[in-house]
Amino acid sequence: MNFLSRRARAIAPYTAGEQPADRKYIKLNTNENPYPPSPRVQEVLRAFDAGTLRLYPRPDADGLRAAIARAEGVEEKNVFCGNGSDEVLALSFPAFFDEGGTACFADLTYSFYEVFAAFFGVKTHIVPLKADFSFDLAAMKNADCAGYYLCNPNAPTGIALPLSAVENFVASVKDRIVIADEAYMDFFGESAVPLTKKYKNLLVVKTFSKSYSLAGIRCGYAVGDEALISGLFRMKDCFNSYPVDAVAQAVCTAAVEDRDYREQTAALVKAERTRLREELLALGFTVPPSGANFLFAGRAKKSGGELYRALKEEGVLVRYWEKPILSDFLRITVGTPEQNGVLIEKLKKILQ
Ligand SMILES: *Cc1c(COP(=O)(O)O)cnc(C)c1O
Repeated sequence: MNFLSRRARAIAPYTAGEQPADRKYIKLNTNENPYPPSPRVQEVLRAFDAGTLRLYPRPDADGLRAAIARAEGVEEKNVFCGNGSDEVLALSFPAFFDEGGTACFADLTYSFYEVFAAFFGVKTHIVPLKADFSFDLAAMKNADCAGYYLCNPNAPTGIALPLSAVENFVASVKDRIVIADEAYMDFFGESAVPLTKKYKNLLVVKTFSKSYSLAGIRCGYAVGDEALISGLFRMKDCFNSYPVDAVAQAVCTAAVEDRDYREQTAALVKAERTRLREELLALGFTVPPSGANFLFAGRAKKSGGELYRALKEEGVLVRYWEKPILSDFLRITVGTPEQNGVLIEKLKKILQ
């Protein structure tokens, strides 16, 4: 007897980066921030009254949404919060695409979009990247679709679109929704959030997992026109009315109010990104310029798979995919100067 539904049997789920517990690795595989969250987060946790956990959290995360709105220069009604931006992205499929409708995005990009589309019965129109790994926006514009997922900076390539290019694209597809996934935008600095006031077809999705160093808390948000935000709320309330728990609401409110700290740690990551890229180029890797907290490095003397396995053996974890194009590359999270130093030292040894 197989108790699984046909859907559960047939679906190919997303595979997250490994979080192994067998030994201590230098973990450069899931784009976590190497620095701790704002000290204000620790203060909030220390002062947190466990007695209040008896109660459900605020269903719509009102206080947190107000704090995000202040930080982003929008109004609370323009903000939606979810259990990680993955959940916000998941809810965006049924909110903005009919079953049998079409979503357009690039290949390569964040591989979860395809999984969500399959889960919600949305068709996909996939547009290959250009030879330099940049988006083929002209081809995307001509796609027959109801909307787009634009990961900016893109994952796993790290390539960022300047704000002017995003605006041109959004303006040229006015009757279709553009969902800009800005998970890594704080490491680039040209967020499209201000454009959401001008373009009713633009939704920007962000996360606390990367630039705020809060991957463990599971919170992400979307900013856009009230009509788009109401679509996300409708979907949330069909699925889970309390997706953001009380601890996450308190922690993320403190984090989003500490812009200075986020900017300081992002600056450290960006400086290391420049240094690490130069070292990788010197070792013979092809490394597209990155606007994110990771580098996409490949076409070296050994294949991605060989390098991935040898690095793991040496105690350094990076991300590797056994797929066309990707299998020649590694995605390497920018760590602390010490971690990056070890990575380069090991790579030199392996490539010798
Ligand atoms: C990390 C990541 C997310 C998911 O972030 P969570 O908020 O941790 O769910 C979304 N999109 C991209 C491109 C990411 O890399």
